[in-house]
Amino acid sequence: MRLIPLNKEKITLIGAGLAGPLMATYLANRGYSVDIYERRPDMRKVDLSAGRSINLALSVRGINALKEVGIYDKIEPITLPMKGRMIHDLDRATHLQPYGQTENEVIYSVSRAQLNMDLMTLAEETGLVNIHFNHQLDSVDLDTNELGFGDKKVLFNKVIGCDGSSSALRNAILKKSNAEYVKNPLGHGYKELTIPPSDTGDFRIETNALHIWPRGEFMLIALPNMDRSFTCTLFFPMTGTTSFETVKNENDILGLFQSQFPDAIDLMPTLVDDFQNNPTGILATVYCKPWHFEDKAVLLGDAAHAIVPFYGQGMNASFQDCSVLNNFIGKHSGAWNEIFTEFSSFHVANGHAIADMAIENYIEMRDTVNDPDYKKRRQLEFELEQKFPDRFIPRYSMVSFHQIPYADVYNRGKIQFNLMTSFISGEILESELHTNILEQLQPIS
Ligand SMILES: Cc1cc2nc3c(=O)[nH]c(=O)nc-3n(C[C@H](O)[C@H](O)[C@H](O)COP(=O)(O)OP(=O)(O)OC[C@H]3O[C@@H](n4cnc5c(N)ncnc54)[C@H](O)[C@@H]3O)c2cc1C
Repeated sequence: MRLIPLNKEKITLIGAGLAGPLMATYLANRGYSVDIYERRPDMRKVDLSAGRSINLALSVRGINALKEVGIYDKIEPITLPMKGRMIHDLDRATHLQPYGQTENEVIYSVSRAQLNMDLMTLAEETGLVNIHFNHQLDSVDLDTNELGFGDKKVLFNKVIGCDGSSSALRNAILKKSNAEYVKNPLGHGYKELTIPPSDTGDFRIETNALHIWPRGEFMLIALPNMDRSFTCTLFFPMTGTTSFETVKNENDILGLFQSQFPDAIDLMPTLVDDFQNNPTGILATVYCKPWHFEDKAVLLGDAAHAIVPFYGQGMNASFQDCSVLNNFIGKHSGAWNEIFTEFSSFHVANGHAIADMAIENYIEMRDTVNDPDYKKRRQLEFELEQKFPDRFIPRYSMVSFHQIPYADVYNRGKIQFNLMTSFISGEILESELHTNILEQLQPIS
């Protein structure tokens, strides 16, 4: 067994997914040297098969962090703006529901792999970050500050867990402390499918939209890629009469798509192969509190708060975590106990809030987007935002186009929802609605 000596200047970080290299860059920019341990090989050298999703929706919280470390200029050209949800009805009719009210209120589709590779390179270019690939953390001793990777042991000074939703560091913290932990499986999983470019090399459906086929208990979505294909994701029950358990053979798959997604099936020549060969992903929400152990270890990203993907916020929230932790490092220069404690006490509520909102958004996306009441509320939200721009901002916009802490978004969203419901049901008049907004919603600074 080799024992690597402790360098007191070093911070150890687990996981070179989306959050790890970004956090390492923030640390390197403050002069820390960082060792990242990643279980996978280097995806810049080895062609890894599709990860958890081929593309992701990037929005303001993520963009802000990318700007802070100076990489957004490089990422922006590989993004595709999506200005709203393109709803595909059963009768093949389509209609766009805009996400926001201004040209800038859009979200961006970006390749997960490209973004991940660029973040790793950025981290390495600081000259202070060393990524050790093919190193799976399999044991943690929080008393002796020892991390185990197979037969190799490494001593750490501070360790940051960016090792994703099944975090090994989180498990070690849970064993050692009385941290609260809940994992709630969603009961629905997902399957990635493809709409390739047309024969002439063009996008086959509207480029600048996130396409949704809402079907009550399940839904199909599609995000554009730079190569003019779309990555589709079917979100579907894991068990039950219409589920991944029952839809398996060619007839089942074609039957489901012919009956539920008639305008999509024609665009998906590899549907049956994709469905049968691509893995079925499982979705769950992880709540954990606190996110740190003494002044030794802290969790961020999915390790701290794995959420379901229906607000397109998992990565954005993870990037925001890095920015928030970086600010506390600046505030408490070197006092790690305070840094970790304040990060946890300030930010856990935000992680829990986006986790809850993401679950609620699944119901909205798959079920209510076509509901007349929902459409009325959306229209009213935009009108109220125009009238009270510093007080009333639609919840989707607060999440995607602002950096208001998620917990505040959640609370404001509840007040807004209740006020709108009272107005739409005729319980209160327009003048009362306006008075209530002024009384109940403080201006957003
Ligand atoms: C289907 C789907 C769609 C999504 N869409 C969006 C979206 O549109 N927008 C958005 O913002 N978010 C989205 N997300 C969420 C997003 O993928 C995650 O929130 C994000 O990847 C979290 O980053 P992370 O670095 O914390 O974790 P990850 O990106 O999962 O990285 C964790 C890293 O740790 C490594 N690792 C794990 N265990 C160990 C170990 N024991 N030792 C060493 N290394 C280890 C892994 O190999 C991995 O590289 C989506 C997720 C899914 C599943």
